[in-house]
Amino acid sequence: MTDIHSLHDRHRAVMPDWLALYYDRPLEITHGEGRHVWDAEGKRYLDFFGGILTTMTAHALPEVTKAVSEQAGRIIHSSTLYLNRPMVELAERIAGLSGIPDGRVFFTTSGTEANDTALLLATAYRGSNQVLAMRNSYHGRSFSAVGITGNRSWSPTSLSPLQTLYVHGGVRGRGPYAQLSDAQFTEACVADLEDMLGQTRGGVAALIAEPVQGVGGFTCPPDGLYGAFREVLDRHGILWISDEVQTGWGRTGEHFWGWQAHAQSGPPDMLTFAKGIGNGMSIGGVVARAEIMNCLDANSISTFGGSPVTMAAGLANLTYLLEHDLQGNARRVGGLLIERLRAIGAQLPVVREVRGRGLMIGIELVKPGTDQASPEAATTVLEAAREGGLLIGKGGAHNTSVLRIAPPLSLNVTEAEEGAAILEQALRAV
Ligand code: PMP
Repeated sequence: MTDIHSLHDRHRAVMPDWLALYYDRPLEITHGEGRHVWDAEGKRYLDFFGGILTTMTAHALPEVTKAVSEQAGRIIHSSTLYLNRPMVELAERIAGLSGIPDGRVFFTTSGTEANDTALLLATAYRGSNQVLAMRNSYHGRSFSAVGITGNRSWSPTSLSPLQTLYVHGGVRGRGPYAQLSDAQFTEACVADLEDMLGQTRGGVAALIAEPVQGVGGFTCPPDGLYGAFREVLDRHGILWISDEVQTGWGRTGEHFWGWQAHAQSGPPDMLTFAKGIGNGMSIGGVVARAEIMNCLDANSISTFGGSPVTMAAGLANLTYLLEHDLQGNARRVGGLLIERLRAIGAQLPVVREVRGRGLMIGIELVKPGTDQASPEAATTVLEAAREGGLLIGKGGAHNTSVLRIAPPLSLNVTEAEEGAAILEQALRAV
């Protein structure tokens, strides 16, 4: 106990004030296995936040550990200026899975840097620094990524190298749009986009959007929304970048990529990925149509992007994910979990909505008897779930009043039921 407090004090003394930690008594996670992690006091938790979605498959997955240690025993890093077999192999597999014809892959070390790269490409290709982003979005923490992040709690400056216009549609909010049917909502958002473009001087480079907003609280825009946007974008020559950092690799259950729920008219021009592909190792990247990827006429390398150890992890993890049909598992187990949570939520006035796709489930909380967001309730539930042995996340606009559930994709039915029972107790504690 004292150790944890002193580590927290030491954290506070040396790390930035804005590096927020979960929980009154922050956790120190020391190890994990499967869907469980242990803290420094030896307490075991069911992990419904998957190491913030980075542990996509399972903690301490033997296949990944073996691939990493074997590669580390050979070589951890060599210059990006030499050929790198695991990097080429992973790029081939990702390009093949991306759905983007003649897709070229560039590896980075984070989702932020992946989005930065996509913005560099889009602005260079189109010769414009005007970008469309969605309200309530999150795309990372670099200067340019902050400039396209529409969620105020995550954009610490309004200065930006980009001129960003925020589009409606990623989240319904509580205004007049909230009452519309899916078809009406899509129509209204498309009309709004058309109107905005009609009033905008100069070309716009790209629209960047998360198919399901992650940090924004696992919002679920109607299927087909971005496909409908695409028709407008095409008329203006504007590129579509799908930020798949949270929605990629089958997490949404029905589809391997989030864009597939939207894409009547084909894949995006670029997609960005990160988080889960390395099962915790730092991999990010961009897949772009060759013409766009190759528009740069100067060198642009990443010293660590594509490093052999992370690529070995990615290859082993992707192989496991596909061989064990974890997308199918996300659909089946996620479907059961959301049903169970909806049944629980229906009895509790603190729950406004239970929503999600696959193993990406959000529970939006309100002050009972009102439609007002309740960040206090979210904090209470988070603490109570922790006491009960369950880790979950928080997110959303309105001061983070949405509980976020995103377990490793290998979650089984017993664990889903166990987690739902702990959550029910925690929700009843409000
Ligand atoms: N895009 C999305 C949709 C994300 O959720 C995140 C991380 N939460 C990022 C980009 C940034 O990724 P990273 O933290 O790896 O830089």
